[in-house]
Amino acid sequence: MTTGGNSWLFMSRFPDFEIDDKWILSHRGKKNPVDPLKPYNYFIEKERTVSGTIEDVSTIFLSNRECPFHCLMCDLWKNTTDYNVTEGAIPKQIEWALAHLPSTKHLKLYNSGNFFDRKAIPEQDYERIASLLDNFETVIVESHPKLIDERSLRFRNMLKPELQVAIGLETVHPEVLQKLNKKMKLADFKRSVKFLSSNGISSRAFILLRPPFLSESEGVSWAIKSIYYAFKTGVTSCTVIPVRSGNGALDALAANNYFEQPDIRSLEEVIEYGIELNEGLVFSDLWDIGLFSSCDKCIDQRRHRLVEMNLYQKKIAPVKCTCLILPDNHVKKS
Ligand code: SF4
Ligand SMILES: [Zn+2]
Repeated sequence: MTTGGNSWLFMSRFPDFEIDDKWILSHRGKKNPVDPLKPYNYFIEKERTVSGTIEDVSTIFLSNRECPFHCLMCDLWKNTTDYNVTEGAIPKQIEWALAHLPSTKHLKLYNSGNFFDRKAIPEQDYERIASLLDNFETVIVESHPKLIDERSLRFRNMLKPELQVAIGLETVHPEVLQKLNKKMKLADFKRSVKFLSSNGISSRAFILLRPPFLSESEGVSWAIKSIYYAFKTGVTSCTVIPVRSGNGALDALAANNYFEQPDIRSLEEVIEYGIELNEGLVFSDLWDIGLFSSCDKCIDQRRHRLVEMNLYQKKIAPVKCTCLILPDNHVKKS
Protein backbone atom coordinates (compact mmCIF):
# COMPACT_ATOMS: atom_id res chain seq x y z
CA MET A 1 0.00 0.00 0.00
CA THR A 2 1.29 3.48 -0.79
CA THR A 3 1.18 6.22 1.78
CA GLY A 4 -0.07 8.95 -0.50
CA GLY A 5 2.70 11.18 0.80
CA ASN A 6 2.20 14.86 0.10
CA SER A 7 -0.18 14.39 -2.82
CA TRP A 8 -3.13 15.22 -0.57
CA LEU A 9 -1.64 18.57 0.30
CA PHE A 10 -1.31 19.94 -3.20
CA MET A 11 -4.32 18.79 -5.14
CA SER A 12 -7.92 19.83 -5.16
CA ARG A 13 -10.13 17.51 -3.13
CA PHE A 14 -12.37 16.65 -6.08
CA PRO A 15 -11.55 15.99 -9.73
CA ASP A 16 -12.82 18.46 -12.33
CA PHE A 17 -14.81 15.85 -14.24
CA GLU A 18 -18.36 14.76 -13.41
CA ILE A 19 -18.64 11.52 -11.43
CA ASP A 20 -21.96 10.18 -12.65
CA ASP A 21 -23.51 6.87 -13.75
CA LYS A 22 -21.85 7.10 -17.15
CA TRP A 23 -18.36 7.65 -15.75
CA ILE A 24 -18.73 4.95 -13.09
CA LEU A 25 -20.17 2.37 -15.51
CA SER A 26 -17.46 3.10 -18.08
CA HIS A 27 -14.81 1.93 -15.61
CA ARG A 28 -16.40 -1.40 -14.75
CA GLY A 29 -14.98 -4.78 -15.59
CA LYS A 30 -16.98 -7.94 -16.22
CA LYS A 31 -19.59 -9.42 -13.88
CA ASN A 32 -19.24 -12.92 -12.44
CA PRO A 33 -21.75 -15.40 -13.83
CA VAL A 34 -24.59 -16.05 -11.34
CA ASP A 35 -27.35 -18.65 -11.34
CA PRO A 36 -30.80 -17.00 -10.96
CA LEU A 37 -32.00 -20.09 -9.08
CA LYS A 38 -29.16 -20.21 -6.56
CA PRO A 39 -27.76 -17.62 -4.15
CA TYR A 40 -24.21 -16.68 -5.04
CA ASN A 41 -22.98 -17.13 -1.49
CA TYR A 42 -24.18 -18.13 1.98
CA PHE A 43 -22.50 -18.66 5.33
CA ILE A 44 -22.89 -18.50 9.09
CA GLU A 45 -21.04 -16.14 11.40
CA LYS A 46 -21.29 -15.17 15.04
CA GLU A 47 -22.75 -11.80 15.93
CA ARG A 48 -23.46 -9.93 19.11
CA THR A 49 -27.16 -9.16 19.60
CA VAL A 50 -28.77 -6.10 21.18
CA SER A 51 -29.59 -8.20 24.24
CA GLY A 52 -25.88 -8.99 24.72
CA THR A 53 -25.84 -12.63 23.63
CA ILE A 54 -23.56 -13.95 20.90
CA GLU A 55 -25.52 -15.94 18.35
CA ASP A 56 -25.11 -17.61 14.99
CA VAL A 57 -26.43 -15.55 12.10
CA SER A 58 -26.95 -16.99 8.63
CA THR A 59 -26.33 -14.78 5.63
CA ILE A 60 -27.71 -15.53 2.18
CA PHE A 61 -26.54 -13.47 -0.79
CA LEU A 62 -29.35 -13.65 -3.33
CA SER A 63 -28.66 -13.49 -7.05
CA ASN A 64 -30.85 -10.88 -8.69
CA ARG A 65 -30.98 -7.83 -10.91
CA GLU A 66 -28.36 -5.23 -10.18
CA CYS A 67 -29.16 -2.20 -8.04
CA PRO A 68 -30.38 0.83 -10.03
CA PHE A 69 -28.13 3.19 -8.03
CA HIS A 70 -24.54 3.16 -9.18
CA CYS A 71 -22.60 4.23 -6.16
CA LEU A 72 -18.99 5.14 -6.73
CA MET A 73 -17.63 2.73 -4.11
CA CYS A 74 -19.92 -0.22 -4.81
CA ASP A 75 -18.69 -3.56 -6.09
CA LEU A 76 -21.87 -5.53 -5.39
CA TRP A 77 -22.88 -5.34 -9.06
CA LYS A 78 -20.23 -7.98 -9.76
CA ASN A 79 -22.58 -10.76 -8.62
CA THR A 80 -25.85 -9.59 -10.15
CA THR A 81 -27.86 -10.16 -13.32
CA ASP A 82 -28.66 -7.61 -16.04
CA TYR A 83 -32.24 -8.90 -16.20
CA ASN A 84 -35.12 -9.27 -13.73
CA VAL A 85 -35.18 -12.76 -12.24
CA THR A 86 -38.47 -14.54 -12.81
CA GLU A 87 -41.22 -14.67 -10.25
CA GLY A 88 -40.53 -17.59 -7.91
CA ALA A 89 -36.74 -17.54 -8.41
CA ILE A 90 -35.97 -15.73 -5.14
CA PRO A 91 -38.03 -18.14 -2.96
CA LYS A 92 -36.24 -21.03 -4.74
CA GLN A 93 -32.87 -19.51 -3.88
CA ILE A 94 -33.88 -19.14 -0.24
CA GLU A 95 -35.16 -22.73 -0.09
CA TRP A 96 -31.92 -23.92 -1.62
CA ALA A 97 -29.76 -22.00 0.86
CA LEU A 98 -31.81 -23.01 3.89
CA ALA A 99 -31.43 -26.64 2.87
CA HIS A 100 -27.65 -26.15 2.93
CA LEU A 101 -27.38 -24.13 6.15
CA PRO A 102 -27.72 -25.37 9.73
CA SER A 103 -30.64 -23.77 11.54
CA THR A 104 -30.03 -20.39 13.18
CA LYS A 105 -32.29 -17.86 14.87
CA HIS A 106 -31.21 -14.94 12.74
CA LEU A 107 -30.94 -14.41 9.00
CA LYS A 108 -29.44 -11.71 6.80
CA LEU A 109 -31.15 -11.81 3.44
CA TYR A 110 -28.89 -9.63 1.33
CA ASN A 111 -29.40 -9.09 -2.37
CA SER A 112 -26.50 -6.86 -3.51
CA GLY A 113 -28.90 -3.96 -3.63
CA ASN A 114 -32.31 -3.20 -2.23
CA PHE A 115 -34.74 -5.80 -0.99
CA PHE A 116 -37.58 -3.37 -1.68
CA ASP A 117 -36.57 -2.82 -5.31
CA ARG A 118 -39.39 -4.55 -7.19
CA LYS A 119 -37.10 -5.23 -10.18
CA ALA A 120 -34.78 -7.20 -7.88
CA ILE A 121 -37.34 -8.96 -5.65
CA PRO A 122 -40.81 -9.18 -7.22
CA GLU A 123 -43.46 -8.15 -4.73
CA GLN A 124 -45.54 -11.18 -5.78
CA ASP A 125 -42.82 -13.29 -4.09
CA TYR A 126 -43.08 -11.59 -0.68
CA GLU A 127 -45.65 -14.00 0.70
CA ARG A 128 -43.73 -17.11 -0.31
CA ILE A 129 -40.48 -15.61 1.00
CA ALA A 130 -42.13 -14.73 4.31
CA SER A 131 -43.49 -18.24 4.73
CA LEU A 132 -39.99 -19.70 4.26
CA LEU A 133 -38.69 -17.55 7.12
CA ASP A 134 -41.20 -18.60 9.78
CA ASN A 135 -38.57 -20.36 11.90
CA PHE A 136 -36.31 -17.33 12.34
CA GLU A 137 -36.51 -14.78 15.15
CA THR A 138 -34.92 -11.98 13.15
CA VAL A 139 -34.65 -11.26 9.43
CA ILE A 140 -32.41 -8.46 8.19
CA VAL A 141 -32.70 -7.05 4.68
CA GLU A 142 -30.88 -4.11 3.08
CA SER A 143 -32.29 -1.13 1.25
CA HIS A 144 -31.53 2.32 -0.10
CA PRO A 145 -33.48 4.93 1.92
CA LYS A 146 -35.49 6.01 -1.12
CA LEU A 147 -37.00 2.53 -1.47
CA ILE A 148 -38.17 2.28 2.11
CA ASP A 149 -41.90 2.93 2.17
CA GLU A 150 -45.27 1.20 2.48
CA ARG A 151 -43.83 -1.82 0.64
CA SER A 152 -41.50 -2.42 3.59
CA LEU A 153 -44.54 -2.50 5.88
CA ARG A 154 -46.41 -4.88 3.59
CA PHE A 155 -43.47 -7.29 3.75
CA ARG A 156 -43.15 -6.86 7.52
CA ASN A 157 -46.84 -7.63 7.95
CA MET A 158 -46.37 -11.01 6.23
CA LEU A 159 -43.36 -11.94 8.37
CA LYS A 160 -43.40 -13.90 11.59
CA PRO A 161 -39.81 -12.97 12.61
CA GLU A 162 -38.86 -9.42 13.51
CA LEU A 163 -37.76 -7.38 10.48
CA GLN A 164 -34.66 -5.19 10.59
CA VAL A 165 -33.44 -3.04 7.71
CA ALA A 166 -29.79 -2.25 7.00
CA ILE A 167 -29.29 1.12 5.29
CA GLY A 168 -26.13 2.61 3.80
CA LEU A 169 -25.51 5.97 5.45
CA GLU A 170 -21.98 5.80 3.98
CA THR A 171 -20.71 9.19 5.22
CA VAL A 172 -22.05 12.39 6.70
CA HIS A 173 -19.46 14.41 4.78
CA PRO A 174 -21.94 16.36 2.63
CA GLU A 175 -19.79 16.88 -0.47
CA VAL A 176 -18.30 13.38 -0.41
CA LEU A 177 -21.77 11.86 0.03
CA GLN A 178 -22.92 13.75 -3.03
CA LYS A 179 -19.86 12.60 -5.03
CA LEU A 180 -20.59 8.96 -4.11
CA ASN A 181 -23.46 9.16 -6.64
CA LYS A 182 -25.80 7.48 -4.19
CA LYS A 183 -28.48 10.06 -5.00
CA MET A 184 -29.23 10.33 -1.32
CA LYS A 185 -29.16 13.20 1.14
CA LEU A 186 -28.83 12.89 4.90
CA ALA A 187 -32.50 13.86 5.11
CA ASP A 188 -33.39 10.72 3.10
CA PHE A 189 -31.48 8.54 5.56
CA LYS A 190 -33.15 10.25 8.50
CA ARG A 191 -36.62 9.96 7.00
CA SER A 192 -36.19 6.23 6.34
CA VAL A 193 -34.89 5.46 9.84
CA LYS A 194 -37.74 7.48 11.41
CA PHE A 195 -40.31 5.87 9.11
CA LEU A 196 -39.12 2.41 10.10
CA SER A 197 -38.89 3.14 13.82
CA SER A 198 -42.33 4.77 13.90
CA ASN A 199 -43.57 1.48 12.49
CA GLY A 200 -41.71 -0.64 15.02
CA ILE A 201 -38.91 -1.72 12.65
CA SER A 202 -35.31 -1.28 13.76
CA SER A 203 -32.55 -0.26 11.41
CA ARG A 204 -28.79 -0.65 11.07
CA ALA A 205 -26.34 1.62 9.28
CA PHE A 206 -23.44 0.86 6.98
CA ILE A 207 -20.68 3.43 7.33
CA LEU A 208 -17.67 3.79 5.07
CA LEU A 209 -14.15 4.14 6.39
CA ARG A 210 -12.20 6.44 4.10
CA PRO A 211 -14.34 6.91 1.02
CA PRO A 212 -12.57 8.65 -1.88
CA PHE A 213 -11.43 12.28 -1.56
CA LEU A 214 -10.47 11.96 2.12
CA SER A 215 -7.05 11.56 3.70
CA GLU A 216 -6.49 8.82 6.28
CA SER A 217 -7.09 11.12 9.26
CA GLU A 218 -10.14 12.69 7.60
CA GLY A 219 -11.42 9.19 6.87
CA VAL A 220 -11.23 8.36 10.57
CA SER A 221 -12.86 11.56 11.74
CA TRP A 222 -15.73 11.40 9.21
CA ALA A 223 -16.40 7.75 10.04
CA ILE A 224 -16.61 8.74 13.70
CA LYS A 225 -18.99 11.62 12.90
CA SER A 226 -21.08 9.27 10.78
CA ILE A 227 -21.42 6.71 13.61
CA TYR A 228 -22.50 9.48 15.95
CA TYR A 229 -25.08 10.77 13.45
CA ALA A 230 -26.44 7.28 12.74
CA PHE A 231 -27.05 6.56 16.42
CA LYS A 232 -28.58 9.98 17.02
CA THR A 233 -30.94 9.27 14.12
CA GLY A 234 -32.06 6.06 15.77
CA VAL A 235 -30.24 3.03 14.35
CA THR A 236 -29.47 0.16 16.71
CA SER A 237 -26.12 -0.79 15.18
CA CYS A 238 -23.44 0.48 12.82
CA THR A 239 -21.18 -1.61 10.62
CA VAL A 240 -18.01 0.15 9.50
CA ILE A 241 -16.80 -0.92 6.06
CA PRO A 242 -13.25 -0.07 4.99
CA VAL A 243 -13.49 1.02 1.35
CA ARG A 244 -11.62 -1.29 -1.01
CA SER A 245 -10.55 -0.75 -4.59
CA GLY A 246 -11.33 -3.22 -7.36
CA ASN A 247 -14.58 -1.93 -8.85
CA GLY A 248 -12.91 -0.01 -11.67
CA ALA A 249 -14.06 3.47 -10.68
CA LEU A 250 -12.11 3.49 -7.43
CA ASP A 251 -9.03 2.16 -9.19
CA ALA A 252 -9.25 5.03 -11.67
CA LEU A 253 -9.52 7.51 -8.80
CA ALA A 254 -6.64 5.82 -6.97
CA ALA A 255 -4.45 6.18 -10.03
CA ASN A 256 -4.99 9.94 -9.78
CA ASN A 257 -4.52 10.15 -6.00
CA TYR A 258 -8.19 10.73 -5.22
CA PHE A 259 -8.52 7.47 -3.33
CA GLU A 260 -6.44 5.23 -1.11
CA GLN A 261 -7.58 2.21 0.83
CA PRO A 262 -7.73 2.83 4.58
CA ASP A 263 -5.45 1.10 7.05
CA ILE A 264 -6.63 -1.57 9.48
CA ARG A 265 -5.34 0.56 12.38
CA SER A 266 -7.76 3.32 11.40
CA LEU A 267 -10.55 0.76 11.49
CA GLU A 268 -9.51 -0.21 15.01
CA GLU A 269 -9.53 3.45 16.05
CA VAL A 270 -13.03 4.03 14.66
CA ILE A 271 -14.42 0.88 16.26
CA GLU A 272 -12.92 1.81 19.63
CA TYR A 273 -14.65 5.18 19.41
CA GLY A 274 -17.95 3.65 18.38
CA ILE A 275 -17.94 1.11 21.19
CA GLU A 276 -16.99 3.69 23.80
CA LEU A 277 -19.82 5.93 22.59
CA ASN A 278 -22.10 3.27 24.06
CA GLU A 279 -25.12 4.18 21.92
CA GLY A 280 -25.52 0.79 20.27
CA LEU A 281 -23.62 -2.05 18.64
CA VAL A 282 -20.62 -1.19 16.46
CA PHE A 283 -19.16 -3.77 14.13
CA SER A 284 -16.28 -3.83 11.70
CA ASP A 285 -16.75 -5.51 8.36
CA LEU A 286 -13.90 -8.01 8.27
CA TRP A 287 -14.36 -9.23 4.70
CA ASP A 288 -10.91 -9.33 3.03
CA ILE A 289 -9.49 -7.45 5.99
CA GLY A 290 -5.93 -8.46 5.07
CA LEU A 291 -6.17 -5.95 2.19
CA PHE A 292 -5.96 -3.12 4.68
CA SER A 293 -2.67 -4.01 6.31
CA SER A 294 0.87 -3.74 5.08
CA CYS A 295 2.42 -5.25 8.21
CA ASP A 296 2.77 -9.03 8.22
CA LYS A 297 3.88 -8.95 11.85
CA CYS A 298 0.59 -7.79 13.34
CA ILE A 299 -2.22 -8.46 10.84
CA ASP A 300 -3.37 -11.67 12.54
CA GLN A 301 -3.43 -10.01 15.96
CA ARG A 302 -5.31 -7.01 14.60
CA ARG A 303 -7.86 -9.21 12.83
CA HIS A 304 -8.34 -11.14 16.07
CA ARG A 305 -8.72 -7.90 18.02
CA LEU A 306 -11.45 -6.68 15.66
CA VAL A 307 -13.26 -10.04 15.89
CA GLU A 308 -13.19 -9.79 19.69
CA MET A 309 -14.41 -6.19 19.68
CA ASN A 310 -17.26 -7.21 17.34
CA LEU A 311 -18.31 -9.98 19.70
CA TYR A 312 -17.74 -8.43 23.11
CA GLN A 313 -18.37 -4.73 22.32
CA LYS A 314 -15.56 -3.54 24.52
CA LYS A 315 -12.15 -2.08 23.85
CA ILE A 316 -9.56 -4.86 23.73
CA ALA A 317 -5.90 -4.21 24.64
CA PRO A 318 -4.16 -2.62 21.63
CA VAL A 319 -1.74 -4.58 19.49
CA LYS A 320 1.88 -3.65 20.11
CA CYS A 321 3.86 -3.42 16.90
CA THR A 322 6.43 -1.17 15.29
CA CYS A 323 3.95 0.03 12.64
CA LEU A 324 2.58 3.06 14.49
CA ILE A 325 2.61 5.70 11.78
CA LEU A 326 -0.44 5.59 9.54
CA PRO A 327 -0.70 7.03 6.02
CA ASP A 328 -0.56 10.88 5.93
CA ASN A 329 1.33 10.73 9.24
CA HIS A 330 -1.84 10.13 11.20
CA VAL A 331 -0.65 8.56 14.45
CA LYS A 332 -2.91 5.94 15.95
CA LYS A 333 -3.85 7.06 19.44
CA SER A 334 -3.67 3.77 21.37
S1 SF4 B 1 -27.32 1.54 -3.16
FE1 SF4 B 1 -26.04 -0.06 -2.23
S2 SF4 B 1 -26.09 -1.78 -3.68
FE2 SF4 B 1 -26.86 0.03 -4.75
S3 SF4 B 1 -25.07 0.82 -5.81
FE3 SF4 B 1 -25.25 1.91 -3.85
S4 SF4 B 1 -23.97 0.74 -2.42
FE4 SF4 B 1 -24.33 -0.56 -4.22
ZN1 LIG C 1 2.56 -4.13 12.59
